[in-house]
Amino acid sequence: MTSPEGRPQSISGTTRLYGIMGHPITHSLSPMMQTFAFQQHRMDCVYMPFPVLPEHLGTAVAGAIALGVHGFNVTIPHKETIMAYLDDIAPAARAIGAVNTVHVQGGHTMGYNTDGEGFLQPLQALHLPFTSLTTCLLGAGGAARAVAVALLQAGCPDLVIANRTYDRAAQLAATLQEHFPQTHVRVVPFAEAASIARQSGLVVNSTSVGLHNAGAALLPDTCFSAGQVVYDLVYRPLYTPLLQTAHQRGATIVPGLDMLIGQGAAAFQIWTGKVFPVAAARELLQPFFTTAG
Ligand code: NAP
Repeated sequence: MTSPEGRPQSISGTTRLYGIMGHPITHSLSPMMQTFAFQQHRMDCVYMPFPVLPEHLGTAVAGAIALGVHGFNVTIPHKETIMAYLDDIAPAARAIGAVNTVHVQGGHTMGYNTDGEGFLQPLQALHLPFTSLTTCLLGAGGAARAVAVALLQAGCPDLVIANRTYDRAAQLAATLQEHFPQTHVRVVPFAEAASIARQSGLVVNSTSVGLHNAGAALLPDTCFSAGQVVYDLVYRPLYTPLLQTAHQRGATIVPGLDMLIGQGAAAFQIWTGKVFPVAAARELLQPFFTTAG
């Protein structure tokens, strides 16, 4: 491992340890992304992948605290189960029902979910008028919940969820309503997604359709037009069939890679208080997300 100037990174008695717990973990690009950010800031920190089996999660958290780990990310399959092992959970993470970032300070563990913030970052850069926005959200899984919480927190007044399994969307809407009683979340059958998308300023795909180019087109091209923003959480390939279609129709498109970097940037900020080098990290990571899938 080398610094941006090509010097070998040295580890000393003051080096701070960070990492990511998940299983499997070998595919994760977080170690590369966070190491890059630490190096850009010339911080004496390392970030390691920790392959943690579900039955070892509690021991791993206790071990991380005992070893003086300063912070870690959490990924599949631990994002929900980790909550039972933490001292405190931030309100957004509680609303989302999952934690992807843990900050350890003086042995105290605080859980955050930065997926929502990571999702919003590229939209904020586009100056999207959240408070007057109709959003069509496709999907009702874990990622959809993070997206929905972020949009409602940002003041989105009209959120419409369409999911293949209607009951799952209805359940998500009910949970959101509990956390945000002042807002109204609509649920429509999946077959109506196209007509809702056509009327929406923001269309978000949080289903896994499009992953590795698999599956039929999620929405017909007539759904998209200039003035819309179309966001696909799927990040392999970088430009999914949905994004390609929306782009051809003149919509502004946001690839899932931007959210992936955004959630890492927000975690880095929590741990260090420093600004993550978003544009440089994107340049570093983009080659790993080929359009061929
Ligand atoms: P999940 O909890 O398993 O949910 C999967 C969702 O996809 C469900 O709504 C499911 O509908 C839907 N779905 C699956 N196959 C479908 C099909 N053939 N037709 C229509 N809908 C289908 O997964 P997740 O954690 O929410 O993740 C969803 C996607 O987001 C994944 O591709 C993941 O990689 C991506 N993601 C990206 C980021 C990022 O940073 N860019 C972050 C998180 C997740 P049913 O309820 O009907 O099964």
